[in-house]
Amino acid sequence: MSIVVTGATGKLGRHVVGQLLEKVPAERITAVVRDEAKAADLAARGVRLAVADYNAPETFDGLFSAGDKVLLISGNEFDKGRVGQHRVVIDAAKAAGVALLAYTSAPGSLTAGLADDHRATEEVLVASGVPYSLLRNGWYFENYTENLAPVLAHGAVVQAAGDGRISAASRADYAAAAVAVLTGEGHENTTYELGGDQSFGFAEYAAELSRQTGEEIAYNAVSTEQYAEILAGAGLPEPLPALMAGVDASIEKGELEITTGDLSRLSGRPTTPLAEAVEAALKG
Ligand code: NDP
Repeated sequence: MSIVVTGATGKLGRHVVGQLLEKVPAERITAVVRDEAKAADLAARGVRLAVADYNAPETFDGLFSAGDKVLLISGNEFDKGRVGQHRVVIDAAKAAGVALLAYTSAPGSLTAGLADDHRATEEVLVASGVPYSLLRNGWYFENYTENLAPVLAHGAVVQAAGDGRISAASRADYAAAAVAVLTGEGHENTTYELGGDQSFGFAEYAAELSRQTGEEIAYNAVSTEQYAEILAGAGLPEPLPALMAGVDASIEKGELEITTGDLSRLSGRPTTPLAEAVEAALKG
């Protein structure tokens, strides 16, 4: 029986595999990757590699075995039909008779268009009859803290979320929850609404950046139309500007505030606070 992680060379996947290595022997872990060269460090640590692409169903033939526990990390190719891609993995997992398929989804409260692929994938997974765990990940701090250069250059956090608040947590926190589900018992047919223990608004985020940099950084709240134009102007490819503006509209409505406590309960520790996430990002 293996623990199999797709998207293992992505940013979340790397956290998951790294944390799995602290809990289970490397030979029990299979990293599903598109490019073996990107995973040379994982192979060197004894992790088994399997090369497969969501766009090529045949690459998943025979990849899973009965009893495996699988983490399907959602893809990022918005132009390639992510639901169909995810179905490829779910079909292969079903054919093999895996013990559990956990899927990195989006909060159940999120109505923004970005959640559509996740809701549809959840339906495919639940209908498949494969024992599932829906890891409805809230927002990553890194969505913001990895994009600090323009914020620092202009002295402004530009968003279209009004006074809305987000229960963000770091990728490492969400990875810890996934690892708990993959290595623990009793997670069959579960849904977890995962988010940070505290929420913040963008005014608070700007204030924290000001405090830690010593620079004046303000929150500049714009309309969703303006925000989509700014993102397109900055070179974000279609359909992302409208999708990201839609997320901000959802944030304003409180749809990314998660109050279940599921994340810290699963990971067994408090989630990363905003100040710590900002500090880590500023240290680079
Ligand atoms: P990354 O973009 O770093 O990783 C995406 C992973 O998916 C990569 O490993 C990539 O492979 C893999 N992948 C993409 N397309 C395919 C394909 N056709 N076949 C096989 N593998 C594929 O994202 P993160 O790790 O940060 O986040 C994981 C996922 O979570 C994202 O893909 C997205 O769906 C979602 N997300 C969630 C956010 C949140 O705040 N909750 C924010 C942003 C994304 P490779 O390494 O070869 O490129």
